[in-house]
Amino acid sequence: MNKNNYILTKTKITSGIQCEKKLWYDFHEPKNTNDNFIFHIGNRFGKVIRDNYGKGLDLSNIKDTKIALRETNKAILSMDTNIIYEAAFLYLDTLIRIDVLIREKDCWQLLEAKSSTKLKDEHIPDIAIQSFIVKSCGINLTKIKLIHINPDFIYKGDENYKNLIKEIDVTEAVCLREEGVLNHINNFRKFGQKNFSCPKVEIGDHCKKPHDCDYQDRCKFLKPKSDKVSYEILPNKPKKLVKYCIENKIKTLEDVPTGKLSDKHRIIQTAHKNNKEWINGELKAELNKYNWPFYFIDFETINQGVPIINDTKPYDQLPFQWSVHKWDAPDDELKLSDSKSFLDFDSQDIELKFIESLLSETGDKGTVFAHNAATEINVLKRLKKKEICKHLTSKIDALISRIEDTLSMVKKNFYHPIMSGSYKIKKIIKCIPTSFSYEEEGSVKDGTEAQLSWFICTDPNTKKKEKPKQIELLEEYCAKDTLALYYLIKYLIEKTIK
Ligand code: SF4
Repeated sequence: MNKNNYILTKTKITSGIQCEKKLWYDFHEPKNTNDNFIFHIGNRFGKVIRDNYGKGLDLSNIKDTKIALRETNKAILSMDTNIIYEAAFLYLDTLIRIDVLIREKDCWQLLEAKSSTKLKDEHIPDIAIQSFIVKSCGINLTKIKLIHINPDFIYKGDENYKNLIKEIDVTEAVCLREEGVLNHINNFRKFGQKNFSCPKVEIGDHCKKPHDCDYQDRCKFLKPKSDKVSYEILPNKPKKLVKYCIENKIKTLEDVPTGKLSDKHRIIQTAHKNNKEWINGELKAELNKYNWPFYFIDFETINQGVPIINDTKPYDQLPFQWSVHKWDAPDDELKLSDSKSFLDFDSQDIELKFIESLLSETGDKGTVFAHNAATEINVLKRLKKKEICKHLTSKIDALISRIEDTLSMVKKNFYHPIMSGSYKIKKIIKCIPTSFSYEEEGSVKDGTEAQLSWFICTDPNTKKKEKPKQIELLEEYCAKDTLALYYLIKYLIEKTIK
């Protein structure tokens, strides 16, 4: 093998530690990882780190492994370079890149950046891979540190991020984990061989911990198809129910003894057994108590990571978009284009503009519906405390008092087998007649894609023509969420009148 070829990376080793099937997929059938807002947070934090630790050799744009290895080697040998960003090391066919290396006389400090707000258990074995390889390449490390985002940092403008970074010395904990890395490398290298067969691993808790596995759709799809619904669809299953089903080899929902189920789970079981929706007899009275007009609202928020808006924190939920559909009377028909909306990305007074326009649009009477309303209510409560919005406190309180949560309402009063145990609006909408779909090609499909759009639109390197495209997609996406609520309430009213 050419000495610059590599088989493993830190990502692949961490995949293998989580699940060997995941590692196999990484090698043989990797998923096309689309752009993701988490990458953008990492990139922006990376820039802050480089500004913070100062001038050095920056290899972050060097993707050619050969060049990165050569430049790292040169910098280490020359006494002129004291800081290296994205230094490359190769040992036992394993390539790693180090976020920051700082020279200390004849030794070095290794710093690994994570855009989390604290040290997490999974960081230690992750950094141990880095330190094991670096040390094996003959580098003497005096200190190993994790650098993460300070959750209490408040941005005050002028691109001043002096206190955004926090360092934690993890030298001792990491050194204790280095020993196992060699075993992992020896074990995982063979997974890259052309004819290595895919390990048989069942889906389970490890699919979400420590990282949400990208292949979950694939593994669920590979499960033997059954005409019968699994008991696993039940939301918020108690552990003892799962244990009972495993011990008694129960796989389908209909085979679970009713005595083992809660009232809510029994309703779900009956709906699937009879393939029939369930509507609570008390729903009509509940719907009748709501005052007209009806407003359907939805917010999009962003966790900036590196804040760019004055007086905001890294992981505050910063609202940047709302959509409202107003339904004046039961006979009115609403369309997607009837939505009113607000969308802004980086105005320094975005929070004030957001709330002023929302208060004006929702008036002072009528019921305001939101799905999983805790999100909207928490944003409103947070805005109330902001200096820039303080004069609107009583109006915000009045708006909060008019909000009704359609998620709680549905959980209490409605279930359809098509929901498959999920109460997400995107799932509910599949079982009622609507004029639109979330699945359209090229559209924003969920909140994480909306967050990605915010990063694209606030990135100075984004091409000019991209921003209007993103704005159009975001406006359509958020309007779909509020039109979906209109369809839901309309459906429930029609069903309860019959
Ligand atoms: S979904 Fe679960 S079983 Fe499948 S590859 Fe990922 S971690 Fe492994």
